[in-house]
Amino acid sequence: MRIVLLGPPGAGKGTQAVMLAERLKYLHLSTGDILRENVKKGTDIGKKARAFMEKGDLVPDDIVIEMMLDTIKAGAKGKDFILDGFPRTIYQAKKIGTELDNLGMPIEMVVYFETSLKTVVFRLTGRRLCKNCGANYHVVNMPPKKQGVCDKCGGELYLRKDDNEDTIKKRLEVFNSQTKELIDYYKDKGILEEVSGDLDAETVYKKLFGILNDRDKVRN
Ligand code: ADP
Ligand code: ADP
Ligand code: ZN
Repeated sequence: MRIVLLGPPGAGKGTQAVMLAERLKYLHLSTGDILRENVKKGTDIGKKARAFMEKGDLVPDDIVIEMMLDTIKAGAKGKDFILDGFPRTIYQAKKIGTELDNLGMPIEMVVYFETSLKTVVFRLTGRRLCKNCGANYHVVNMPPKKQGVCDKCGGELYLRKDDNEDTIKKRLEVFNSQTKELIDYYKDKGILEEVSGDLDAETVYKKLFGILNDRDKVRN
């Protein structure tokens, strides 16, 4: 299956994408992760994207679309994948929709993580990432065994620059004004599914897995 995960920042898209990708051997393509990697390496894309990301604005459509399309063409042909955090505007959705249709690999399912404001603010302020391997923690919900240290690789954990209250507020505004309309867009296409992002990670995962199974596409 080719899946899109849609939801506000902090809904748990990345966490679920990692779990599903591991279990189903799907590719996990996170636009935020790919952008952050570009910023870290100082590539042209990274240089263009950095200021937008730090402010909590969306990176311009054309940059993101080209980057994601290149990534998909390079590594995802004939494979199942999860797009995490992409598309985020109607323009991106239309453009990637057409391109993937033409490649014979249309998006088959979009899952919307309906999540309360209270949940996302708590999750984002407590989110910590591993500098080395990118693993995702939460200081309260999913703490590492040793504070500030990654369970998987021993790397140092950090707080994302854009996970501060002001930028979180901005990102939520951006979600409401530019991304939320994708719910109806995909509902009209008949490929939208919904889960509550407020539930604990294991429950969300079970529900997601159930949805996938119901669509009878999962090859266990
Ligand atoms: P979160 O899921 O916490 O919102 P992401 O890691 O998905 O964060 O995204 C971080 C930042 O990267 C966004 O605030 C935005 O600046 C940029 N970004 C990610 N995905 C997109 C996208 N599809 N279009 C434009 N900008 C994006
Ligand atoms: P997104 O990719 O949607 O921005 P993340 O997957 O990065 O969200 O999750 C945001 C934060 O919340 C992380 O710190 C993560 O560990 C934590 N988290 C994710 N899913 C859950 C959940 N279902 N219950 C509690 N905490 C969660
Ligand atoms: Zn690590």
